[in-house]
Amino acid sequence: MNTLCLPAQENTIHQAAQLIQQGQVVAFPTETVYGLGANALDDQAVRSIFTAKERPADNPLIVHVAEERQLDGLCEVTDTARKLMAAYWPGPLTMLLYKTSQVPNVTTAGLPSVAVRCPNHPVALALLRACQLPIAAPSANRSGRPSPTTAAHVYEDMQGRIPLILDGGPCQVGVESTVVDLTGPVPCVLRPGAITPEDIAAVVGDCAVAPSVMRPLKEGEHAPSPGMKHRHYAPKAKMTVFVGSNDQVAAEIIRRYDAAENAVILSHDDLLPAFGSRRAYSLGANAAEGAHLLFQRLREMDELGCSLILAQGWEATGKGLAVMNRMARAAAFDIVKV
Ligand code: AMP
Ligand code: MG
Repeated sequence: MNTLCLPAQENTIHQAAQLIQQGQVVAFPTETVYGLGANALDDQAVRSIFTAKERPADNPLIVHVAEERQLDGLCEVTDTARKLMAAYWPGPLTMLLYKTSQVPNVTTAGLPSVAVRCPNHPVALALLRACQLPIAAPSANRSGRPSPTTAAHVYEDMQGRIPLILDGGPCQVGVESTVVDLTGPVPCVLRPGAITPEDIAAVVGDCAVAPSVMRPLKEGEHAPSPGMKHRHYAPKAKMTVFVGSNDQVAAEIIRRYDAAENAVILSHDDLLPAFGSRRAYSLGANAAEGAHLLFQRLREMDELGCSLILAQGWEATGKGLAVMNRMARAAAFDIVKV
């Protein structure tokens, strides 16, 4: 299959909407990462997403809508959900709600709940409105690769597998949406993102965080979100993450860099000068910039062909929780406190 990568504009968005109405898969930008979308209500179309991504069938997809009203008939929208939608939609907040029989089981990997989100991106919203269908869309990477934050990343992973990529430029947030489970008595964050647990608690009074957000699942432990049990965000090189004071992190990174053959460094902007002429790349000046840059940097490190990535982590609180959750997984939880 020939894969077109076209700038997102009125005629190409219309073309993408027609492909989706015909049951095909197209990639499109959102404010978090690029998505790989198909008609969420057509199980054959949804199966094509799993095939293109090589995604395990037990990992459910997020259903995207243009507005809250489009959820009518798809899921049971609770009062808590309505409050969160009023506060954070359109935006990077995905909610798990009980689904109806209208949503095919393949979309939710057989689970009784469906993940729903309204993205805050003009191209994603225009596409949703043009096709007038809910769009099931996971991140547009091949399974196990870092999520794509530019159309070029999508092309790397998806060329020959899908007919069309809409190019809307780089994604602003850079990590996937917050996933919050609203099927229990207290909202529980299963995957951290730009909307923090504190942001959720500020609207609905309380919010828990699943323990597996910052540690690996234990042997036999139930995965509250199936995505957590799969290998994720893995660069080709081995990666170690360092947390602690700037001075100590710099000293330990330099010690390991100088002892290694082919290492690279990722650090906060203020630490970059400490590494002199060593190969060091920016992870931004704060955790939000770190989130924006992380997946792009991991892809660049793969291209450099380095064998070791020494990365400075962020504090795993507030905005830092999302980026540290991804860094921890990229490093297979090899986190060193210095
Ligand atoms: P992605 O589509 O790549 O952004 O991944 C979607 C994430 O949401 C995965 O980690 C899924 O496991 C999670 N997810 C989607 N639907 C559900 C659901 N019904 N229950 C639990 N987790 C879900
Ligand atoms: Mg993904």
